[in-house]
Amino acid sequence: MTNTLALFYDERFMKYDFGSYHPLHQDRILLHYELCKSLGLLSRKDVSEPSFELATEEHLRYAHTQDYIDQIRTLSQQEGYSPLDRGDTRAFPGAYDVSRVMVGASLAAVDAVMQRHSDHSWNPGGGMHHAHADRASGFCIFNDAAIACHHLKRRYKLKRILYLDIDVHHGDGVEEQFYSDPEVFTLSIHQTGRTLFPQTGYSHEIGDGEGRGYTANLPLPPYTQDDQYLAAFEAIVPPLIKSYKPEAIIMQSGVDTHFQDEIAHLILTTHAFTQIGRRMHELAHEYSSGRVIALGGGGYSYYSVPRCWTIILAEIIGAEIQDEIPSGWQQLFKKITGLEAPTTLYDKEAPTLSPTDKARIGRLVSESVSRVQDNVFPIHGIDKI
Ligand SMILES: [Zn+2]
Ligand SMILES: [Zn+2]
Repeated sequence: MTNTLALFYDERFMKYDFGSYHPLHQDRILLHYELCKSLGLLSRKDVSEPSFELATEEHLRYAHTQDYIDQIRTLSQQEGYSPLDRGDTRAFPGAYDVSRVMVGASLAAVDAVMQRHSDHSWNPGGGMHHAHADRASGFCIFNDAAIACHHLKRRYKLKRILYLDIDVHHGDGVEEQFYSDPEVFTLSIHQTGRTLFPQTGYSHEIGDGEGRGYTANLPLPPYTQDDQYLAAFEAIVPPLIKSYKPEAIIMQSGVDTHFQDEIAHLILTTHAFTQIGRRMHELAHEYSSGRVIALGGGGYSYYSVPRCWTIILAEIIGAEIQDEIPSGWQQLFKKITGLEAPTTLYDKEAPTLSPTDKARIGRLVSESVSRVQDNVFPIHGIDKI
């Protein structure tokens, strides 16, 4: 397996700022980048940091209406915040341009892999999967993930693109764009919409028309743990990849499934991200010419996001990294967050549940897996395991 990686990080990501009281803090991306650097990942010969261009308005039109693009451009020239949804998504001064930086990084991540400058690519500033064609949602203004999928279709003429979304929230904005399109298979694994925004992503949502069977949703109950999550992942993801044989894989790598994340209720540890990163790397080489374009996404805990993304990145390039976090990074963490820094990359403890609760959650996970297998597998002629 070859393992070159193009990393797209830009200090301008920090300007995507909804205000200091908002849960989305972009300096989590800075801390992730600096953690990679302190662990020696960025000085490796197989990791490059190419420059990239802002996305153009034409790129934004791949996924968004002209009216919506105009609205964002206008609002971002005004003073102060302008609400864009009923929650906490707002336009702010400069929102249009910084969003184009984030989308531009995802487009460049696609180009790097498709033009074989690198086997894999990573844009930690991407993964804004909730933005819809004509409206912002869930902290997402422009949907770089959907635009990247469109770019693979338009520029590279791919006919089989897998969009895998491991964020704790359903990847609703991307699913919507490709719901009747068999050329982009959207697969989202998330906490059930019964208990979490955006209240969609049920197992009966499987696409329609020609796209029927090319959307899959695996909703999981609150308090799903590593072993249950990984068993569910294994029961769904590899069989679909083996059958679909994607020409490229876009992975939205939200890490708000981690137990330290307070915005949602799955309780994964770093072990799960090691396994997911490793498995996706293997599957990409086996079925997709190694083409993995990994994007960031949700994740709101300073403790977990920098570590989890670094672990995923390391697995995608097959790098061995030390567990101990260098003291320089710990000092930076404390300076930025005012909190005590984690001292190890990998979690040393996991939340525990009573045997009764664990068994109950295990049953719910198995039922959800069965529903996906029943609804989607027959359309592709896959035998249920
Ligand atoms: Zn590789
Ligand atoms: Zn999320």
